[in-house]
Amino acid sequence: MSQTAFSTLNLKPELLSNLSSLGYEAMTPIQAQSLPYILAGKDVIAQGKTGSGKTAAFGLGLLDHLNVKRFRVQSLVLCPTRELADQVAKEIRKLARAIHNIKVLTLCGGMPFGPQIGSLEHGAHIIVGTPGRVEEHVRKGNLNLDDLNMLILDEADRMLEMGFQDALDEIIDAAPERRQTLLFSATYPKQIESIAKRIMYKPVMAKVESTH
Ligand code: ADP
Ligand code: MG
Repeated sequence: MSQTAFSTLNLKPELLSNLSSLGYEAMTPIQAQSLPYILAGKDVIAQGKTGSGKTAAFGLGLLDHLNVKRFRVQSLVLCPTRELADQVAKEIRKLARAIHNIKVLTLCGGMPFGPQIGSLEHGAHIIVGTPGRVEEHVRKGNLNLDDLNMLILDEADRMLEMGFQDALDEIIDAAPERRQTLLFSATYPKQIESIAKRIMYKPVMAKVESTH
């Protein structure tokens, strides 16, 4: 069990002070294993069970890299379901509380399409969504990924099981090649290994067997 404090990381001071007001002091093992690499800009594959704190691992990484003054989509988080995307967006907003004017937008299937176009026209820094709907917005020209510098696949194994491979490929094709890619998964089947080989650059593996 790791007891490394978040304060050992070189995080933006406003993120650090917000973490202590949230009562997050020690990193969970998956956070301790992945965050130093994520903050260093490396591609990371992180494997850990449900409840191990994966959201804050990538959430802190993307918030630390974000330039709030640049009102463009800089990070994209893809999740298998609307429920998971909503949870991730909620956690990112919580972690971002001390940073003013951050816009996090969710784009999920099963929700009306038109209002999402309106929201995209208003702009966002961070998009959290499901692959099918995000791909549709990219294909129709509603979502421009030219300024994307961080792509996160959350629960990648479930996204593949649900048949999102083609949508993922289309989104990745539309994203800049120079970017940081993070892949989170509970399991690491062959299919994940092969997608990682295609879309990641020298990924670091962070693996934790037990929950914290
Ligand atoms: P996972 O995605 O690995 O299933 P989550 O990211 O949803 O797990 O985290 C599970 C719970 O743990 C969340 O309620 C989150 O707020 C909490 N949590 C995450 N990291 C920490 C931490 N370092 N200290 C305290 N609570 C944490
Ligand atoms: Mg999760």
